[in-house]
Amino acid sequence: PSPAKSYLNIEKIIDIALESGADAIHPGYGFLAENPKFGEACEKNGIKLIGPTGDVIHQMGDKITSKALMKKAGVPVIEGTPEGVSDIEEAKEIARQIGYPVIVKASAGGGGIGMRAVYEEDELVRAIESTQSVASTNFGDSTVFIEKYLEKPRHIEFQLLADEHGNVIHVADRECSIQRRHQKLLEEAPSPIMTEELRAEMGASAVKAAEYIGYTSAGTVEFLYDNGQYYFLEMNTRIQVEHPITELVTNTDLIKEQIKIANGDELSYEQKDIQVSGHAIECRINAEDPLNDFAPNPGKITGYRSPGGPGVRLDSGVYMNYTIPTFYDSMISKLVTWGRTRDDSIARMKRALSEYIILGVKTTIPFHKAILRNPNFISGDLNTHFIDQYKNGIESEMVNVIAEDLENV
Ligand code: ADP
Repeated sequence: PSPAKSYLNIEKIIDIALESGADAIHPGYGFLAENPKFGEACEKNGIKLIGPTGDVIHQMGDKITSKALMKKAGVPVIEGTPEGVSDIEEAKEIARQIGYPVIVKASAGGGGIGMRAVYEEDELVRAIESTQSVASTNFGDSTVFIEKYLEKPRHIEFQLLADEHGNVIHVADRECSIQRRHQKLLEEAPSPIMTEELRAEMGASAVKAAEYIGYTSAGTVEFLYDNGQYYFLEMNTRIQVEHPITELVTNTDLIKEQIKIANGDELSYEQKDIQVSGHAIECRINAEDPLNDFAPNPGKITGYRSPGGPGVRLDSGVYMNYTIPTFYDSMISKLVTWGRTRDDSIARMKRALSEYIILGVKTTIPFHKAILRNPNFISGDLNTHFIDQYKNGIESEMVNVIAEDLENV
């Protein structure tokens, strides 16, 4: 179905909800979840949107506004311009003060689109102009700002739950440093570097952030972690793709909790109930060619066998003969494993990936197999540039993996 006929057609979804007598809608983690128009349409028709309020979505959707709020709340933020930059001389001066490298970011940006690292002053003007133009095309708002570019940070985020009675808890951490084009590919919980002390500290910071803005529902505070310091990156005002790994290590049902919160119930858990047990990994299985810069590769699935067994969860919407449309994100499924230790979780993921067969489209399966064999990944030595840093090794391992798979067919 084309986008006009699909889940992005707000009017149609409201019609269906009214027809069926639904009094609430869960927007998923796609485009509707943070679309203010959808929230307004729900409200107008007396339907509860299962998620935070429109105000909060709006505030946190703007990077400059959200950073300013977090700074006021006492959450550490990355050094940078407090407002949008337009004057080039001023921008140069600010970048000099911060010190290169810096990153130019679109305030309205999202999904990894609208940001550019700058290593020297000569590149600054071009980076500002190109980010402004990308931002105005993609988000209808050309405001950009500058902040310090952390060269090898880890991406560590905290899951939050907040009810309408003022109770806010964190549901522990996830590490999402394995990214391409600033988009996550493999996530794990907990972070390999997490300690009880650090979790308590960062978790308290995330809770403080949510309390300060009066957040309700499930949400995530993302941090960059660098040299023993952590900084607020952004808040995702929705349930995220990677939420299953949190459910597996904390034995929670986040979606059920979201529905209960929307119903006006109090949280089922207190902070002390949240204990992390074992280790979970999620591999995003996308219809992409990992050997060709992860170019999207939609099409028809001509052969399909899904993995299973202990500690394996597969969240999928596809089947044999299903055609992956060209209109959306290229995600096919999310393969998640749980193990008592990180090593057990890796071993189970390797087995599950080896069982998983998808024919007809290229997928990220060989990429994940290669990552799981990478000694730096195995030792937990991660940063957001991991894929670029080990590109050659990962690619040659992918070639091996594909050759081995062919032999085993
Ligand atoms: P988006 O809203 O597009 O997802 P984010 O602000 O969440 O953008 O950033 C996404 C990713 O971009 C981060 O996980 C990180 O890899 C990178 N990034 C963003 N800001 C910085 C920074 N100041 N220094 C280094 N990397 C950054």
